[in-house]
Amino acid sequence: MDYRGILDTIHAEVAPHVGVGRVASYIPELAGVEPAQFGMAIVDLAGGVHTVGDARVPFSIQSISKLFGLTLAFQLAGDTLWERVGREPSGNPFNSLVQLERENGKPRNPFINAGALVVTDMLCSRYTHAENALVQFTGRLAANPALDYDARVAASELRTSHRNAAMAHFMKSFGNLHNPVDAVIDAYCKHCAIRMNCIDLARAVAFLANGGTNPWTGERVLDASSAKRLSALMLTCGTYDAAGDFAFRVGLPAKSGVGGGIVALLPGECGICVWSPALEDSGNSHAGSVALERFTDLTGRSIF
Ligand code: GLN
Repeated sequence: MDYRGILDTIHAEVAPHVGVGRVASYIPELAGVEPAQFGMAIVDLAGGVHTVGDARVPFSIQSISKLFGLTLAFQLAGDTLWERVGREPSGNPFNSLVQLERENGKPRNPFINAGALVVTDMLCSRYTHAENALVQFTGRLAANPALDYDARVAASELRTSHRNAAMAHFMKSFGNLHNPVDAVIDAYCKHCAIRMNCIDLARAVAFLANGGTNPWTGERVLDASSAKRLSALMLTCGTYDAAGDFAFRVGLPAKSGVGGGIVALLPGECGICVWSPALEDSGNSHAGSVALERFTDLTGRSIF
């Protein structure tokens, strides 16, 4: 596959879309990020790295951390995890509260905020510092032991996390949060604030393209069936309430974050990450979505 030529074509075609949309501003520290940036990285399973644009610029991974949190919690809890979190698309914004009441405090899926808070709660039950455990785990997936979270972004979100705290209290009233709300929100804001670049993230999702085995260490992260299941969840729920449209346009399992990153994977071939901070109303990167759509059209490769 001529990834070099494909990335150059995408870079040229995506240019009119870069900066279109709005940078997430409800986390004050993210509001100042320059919107007109774009980077993309493809890491094939042999370790070949192909990049274009700002692929080495670190950014706040935000909800992409939900994928790594879920992977770690799934390793620990196995299928009992689904007793506390569902597996259906929500059809609602990622920070919506309404569904939780109708569904008795059981979040629709692990990729909306409520679901990720339950997953973080599971990690808090297992680790004294869940965010550090998750940073280390993600660092192994990315083959980058220097990963860390940005304390300023975490503190900034913590100061404005009333909505997530409301969800957490609400779920606690249904018995679906075992640790103190403050502890769970603190760990959640910290893991959302992990800083990575496109290359780190493309490497970190490669284990899912590789049937659940970390290609960089040989370590089995998940069995093949579990890796298939998490990838399926990414397809159906990974891009918020735009997941249907995203699957229609792109056709790859993906997970986005309001920092403007989107990770995706092509099973058996590569991990992919694209980053551009200006978002569509759904919370997905606009230029990033266009780039991934062009990637599958130009390569003729998707899961379909
Ligand atoms: N930390 C963000 C929040 O909880 C993550 C949201 C996202 O990236 N969609 O709102």
